[in-house]
Amino acid sequence: MSQDRKTQLAGNLAAVHARIDRACADAGRDRAGVRLVVVTKTFPASDVKLLAALGVRDVGENRDQEAKAKKAACEQLPLRWHLIGQLQRNKVNSVLQWADVVQTVDRPELAAALDGAAGRLGRRLSVMLQVALDSPIQSARGGCAPAAASALAEYVLSLSHLDLCGVMGVAPIIGDPAAAFSRLVQAADAVRGLVPGADQISAGMSGDLEAAIAHGATQVRLGGAVLGNRPALP
Ligand SMILES: *Cc1c(COP(=O)(O)O)cnc(C)c1O
Repeated sequence: MSQDRKTQLAGNLAAVHARIDRACADAGRDRAGVRLVVVTKTFPASDVKLLAALGVRDVGENRDQEAKAKKAACEQLPLRWHLIGQLQRNKVNSVLQWADVVQTVDRPELAAALDGAAGRLGRRLSVMLQVALDSPIQSARGGCAPAAASALAEYVLSLSHLDLCGVMGVAPIIGDPAAAFSRLVQAADAVRGLVPGADQISAGMSGDLEAAIAHGATQVRLGGAVLGNRPALP
């Protein structure tokens, strides 16, 4: 059973790497400049272990409780855990128990809460600014307005325990992902103008990774293309 699953995941990973290779070649980009984050939300810890054995080093989760349990089951594995879902301020202490990177910082209050929680633990936390790519902006999916990204970056810079790595965006379900990724790149440029080291762009999912890589994504977040169909959420 597990061997079958491992074979299946290995095949899916090979196909995904081929897509990323091809997208980089088409965009004239260095393949080493694009990192794969496998989105393991809704899938069991056993899948995370198989992925780690297959060389995956970054995983993405969107729910605190689910992620915390999975991390506990995978404690010794050399994985970087990314929070890619919306975060409420009252969950920051819990998230710091498992997350290495919070990709969804979209307001100063949340940044301040994360900074405080990291400080209490005597650690640093890597963060990315989530930029809303819908036009007009629909707050349901989270993210700050593109024009607000610089001010938020400046605020994060003023905090003591956060390391700003770059920006993250989710293309709208309907519409042209290329237009959305262009908005993200503008915000990324503005942030990098303030913080030269904040050069990561997290964009691209199973359906639009090629467009994201064409627009400069340095991380793609792939769920379905690696793990198969997710069970529908209740
Ligand atoms: C679920 C999710 C993904 C992965 O989506 P797929 O279409 O399964 O590749 C990527 N990013 C975010 C923010 C997600 O919530």
